[in-house]
Amino acid sequence: MTAQILDGKAVARQIYDEVANSVIERIARGGTRPKLATVLVGDHPASAKYVELKQRNARHVGIESEDHRLPSTTTTEELLALTRRLNQDDSVSAILIQQPTPKQIDMHRVVFTLDPVKDVDGFHPVNAGLVALGLPGGVEPCTPAGIVQLLERSGIGIEGVNAVVVGRSNLVGKPTALLLLKRNATVTLCHTRTRDLASHTRSADILVAAAGRAGLIEKEMVKPGAAVVDVSTNWVGGRQIGDLGPGVDAVAGWLTPNPGGVGPMTRAMLIKNTYQAEVRRRG
Ligand code: NAP
Repeated sequence: MTAQILDGKAVARQIYDEVANSVIERIARGGTRPKLATVLVGDHPASAKYVELKQRNARHVGIESEDHRLPSTTTTEELLALTRRLNQDDSVSAILIQQPTPKQIDMHRVVFTLDPVKDVDGFHPVNAGLVALGLPGGVEPCTPAGIVQLLERSGIGIEGVNAVVVGRSNLVGKPTALLLLKRNATVTLCHTRTRDLASHTRSADILVAAAGRAGLIEKEMVKPGAAVVDVSTNWVGGRQIGDLGPGVDAVAGWLTPNPGGVGPMTRAMLIKNTYQAEVRRRG
């Protein structure tokens, strides 16, 4: 079997088109134009590149963007002050604080200070709590939301299937498990203390690999025909690879390319969340 591609780039394009149309309709009705404020602390080249890409994606669909750059010596108090200012700025729909931030910054305090409505990443405990409880109104974090959208829009059934998520971080693994559970998958969440990982992964109709360990998922660990989502971004020999070992593409039924799978979906969901933040604020 040679896996069919779960094409993150193509599905992301659909989402950008939908948001662009929504913005056009909103403006035509006399509504406000959404605006994304990005905050970059320090001058890490990869982070700077991600922020520029996100701003370009926003502009591409008619969302304004505003760029805030702070030096790498910024203190938590200084970042908190900017966060509070952006919370109060009525022209700002959504706030993105690019992570990782320098070590001296207490990101827990910063995230707690964000206005939950403007929390485009869905990291604020109010949003995480609403998502965990399966209640409406919470902002779904971009990578997990992107994974679920990619599966659904590719015609992969989620209800009733066995979904196994490898990785339990608050950023990726845990919320991905919750979103799959909300769609009625039977979910198993694996981590470094999981005994006999392969026995779990082999039962997966949907397997989400988010461990950040190159080669962790060997072909013998994959159920034939499974939909496999390779989230991780491991850098090996200057090249981005995920968690999948050689030959998984010959066993899986569906597979995300890496790069070109989850990454584009994450950025598209950020743009969708920005639009929805404006709708939540002003209707
Ligand atoms: P993380 O915070 O390092 O979490 C990794 C998780 O994987 C942990 O829960 C860890 O278990 C588990 N794990 C590690 N080794 C394992 C093993 N051998 N067996 C079973 N479980 C194992 O990383 P993260 O933030 O969740 O990100 C995961 C990966 O996704 C990274 O490569 C990251 O770069 C990538 N990522 C990609 C995107 C995208 O848009 N494509 C977005 C976000 C993240 P313990 O909890 O027991 O330590």
